[in-house]
Amino acid sequence: MFQQEEYDVIVVGAGHAGCEAAAAAANMGSKVLLVTMNMNTIAQMSCNPAMGGVAKGQIVREVDALGGQSGIITDKTMIQFRMLNRSKGPAMWSPRAQSDRMRFAEEWRMTLEQTLNVDFWQEAVTGLVVENDTVIGVKTQLGIEFRGKAVVLTNGTFLNGLIHIGEKQFGGGRAAESRSTGITEQLKELGFEAGRMKTGTPPRVDGRSLDYSKMEEQSGDAEPSKFSYLDTPTLTKQRPCYITYTNPEVHEILKEGFEKSPMFQGRIKGLGPRYCPSVEDKINRFADKDRHQIFVEPEGWSTVEVYVNGFSSSLPEDVQYRALRKIAGFENAKMFRPGYAIEYDFFPPTQLHLTLETKRIKNLYFAGQINGTTGYEEAACQGLMAGINAHNRVHGKEPFILKRSEAYIGVLIDDLVNKGTDEPYRMFTSRAEHRILLRQDNADLRLTPLGHSLGLASDERMERVREKQEQTAEIVKLLKNFGIEPTEINGWLEEIGSATIHEKTRAVNLLRRPNVELPELTRALPTLALALGQYRPDALEQAVILVKYEAYLEKEHQQAARVQELEDFAIRGRLDYKAMPALSHEAREKLLKIQPETLGQASRISGVSPADVSVLMVYLGR
Ligand code: FAD
Repeated sequence: MFQQEEYDVIVVGAGHAGCEAAAAAANMGSKVLLVTMNMNTIAQMSCNPAMGGVAKGQIVREVDALGGQSGIITDKTMIQFRMLNRSKGPAMWSPRAQSDRMRFAEEWRMTLEQTLNVDFWQEAVTGLVVENDTVIGVKTQLGIEFRGKAVVLTNGTFLNGLIHIGEKQFGGGRAAESRSTGITEQLKELGFEAGRMKTGTPPRVDGRSLDYSKMEEQSGDAEPSKFSYLDTPTLTKQRPCYITYTNPEVHEILKEGFEKSPMFQGRIKGLGPRYCPSVEDKINRFADKDRHQIFVEPEGWSTVEVYVNGFSSSLPEDVQYRALRKIAGFENAKMFRPGYAIEYDFFPPTQLHLTLETKRIKNLYFAGQINGTTGYEEAACQGLMAGINAHNRVHGKEPFILKRSEAYIGVLIDDLVNKGTDEPYRMFTSRAEHRILLRQDNADLRLTPLGHSLGLASDERMERVREKQEQTAEIVKLLKNFGIEPTEINGWLEEIGSATIHEKTRAVNLLRRPNVELPELTRALPTLALALGQYRPDALEQAVILVKYEAYLEKEHQQAARVQELEDFAIRGRLDYKAMPALSHEAREKLLKIQPETLGQASRISGVSPADVSVLMVYLGR
């Protein structure tokens, strides 16, 4: 036996899923081996140097709240922070960080090296050791066998990876990294179904060769926030991004490359991410648009490399180069690396239990891109859940499953396992029917108690949550009782164009007005500022959200409880789908074909939207 008699959990791959899986299992007390092909690329950001964004930012907050590491590492290594969608309701607020690519990877490696119970081995795993339909270890290229009670596969884009640049194709898991062979073939022999997907990345350029005066500057937030609920640093300085545009000349040059495009010429068979199209796809599909936005994103604090977001391409490198140079500000651009597309194997996730354990082989877990998802955040949260569940299995504990009403993570895994996916799955707020409850501001309140009872979230986290809960309740009470006289406030209300009051009112009534926010109200009312001065900013924010949106939140909680109740509600044979004009065409077809047993099952059929489920509920008189 090599290094160790037997590990509790072996994690294959140190991408975003693998790192979270290894950290979670080890922090819960499992003896973990992390086997990865290249220890210099641990937590490599394969594509854009950024974490979070719409719905993805909420996931990072949830990972953090449960006791995962991605949020902490993002906070320590970001170069810019923005809270997206601030002008919309709080359910849409989404944190996004521009990351320092090299620092992000370095910080993850340092974190894992400092985690007790994690051993490392740099090599390619070529197969699993399976006995009686149970995985008991992995085999490597050198022929070493490592024994483990559970195995988590997080191979990302590496399984039979095939890179395309124009007419050139070569095997690889990512630019300049080998692909992984053997695992898909063995899993197919074991009865697994495998599929093929593709994704792509833009060229990287030398920032010194760009003329930023021809672009629009995009700065970070004036008061940057952060991802972790712990005491991680906030940014004191930030690097700006820039915005520029393609133009008809750029499009004409790109079109010259179409006949050598691996996508248009049918050499790429796998389906790509619909919402992350290549630039050639954009100009082909939206022929009437004469420009597309390009975000020019620095790759870190101390590198000149720049990521050209929006210019993903697998056209020949010379076509990419010539087209780039026609973009405003890129006239003298020097290219560091060309864009490329990659095809890889994935395993339809309907072959998994909700714990991410495979249905076919016991104690074998899949997490990340191998399950047909795309994105660091989607991978990280699956890794965390697989790591937790592998640990729990090995230690005879209960499975850990999050409900759709508890977390975006619950929505993601439920979608994958019950609906499957035939194109790279990324998270959107619209996928979550209870998104009003699943906000980035309350992930700690929703999930830290669960993470703490698992033994993953620390006592410190739990203590912070308790304090936030107590303070929030106190502030809500205070706002509901705090009386304001017309003479104190009418001048300010007139100033902001809000109706004046004629009798004494409570602070809560003013805060419920759409144009009244707490910072401005406390500036106008020093007595209120004084009363609230002792409270934590996050408790203040939470209390304001609770009072402003009280009615919506109450309704949503009731709806979530009803949905849970209806989860097992039998419907087979009780509904005539043809007589429901309000159902979407696709939903009606699928419902007629599948004839679901319960409302819960109906709701998870691909093509049956939350709106369709509401229609069914109306017909059921619920
Ligand atoms: P990865 O980050 O791919 O990590 C896999 C890890 O497993 C690596 O460390 C690798 O060395 C290791 N490994 C693989 N096989 C073996 C083996 N047999 N033995 C040992 N170690 C192994 N996401 C987006 O959201 N938007 C995009 O536009 C986008 N574009 C992309 C473009 C490209 C070219 C690539 C490569 C990826 C892109 N992604 C994009 C996807 C994003 O990189 C992934 O979703 C994310 O990195 C997946 O994380 P993961 O942990 O599942 O796998």
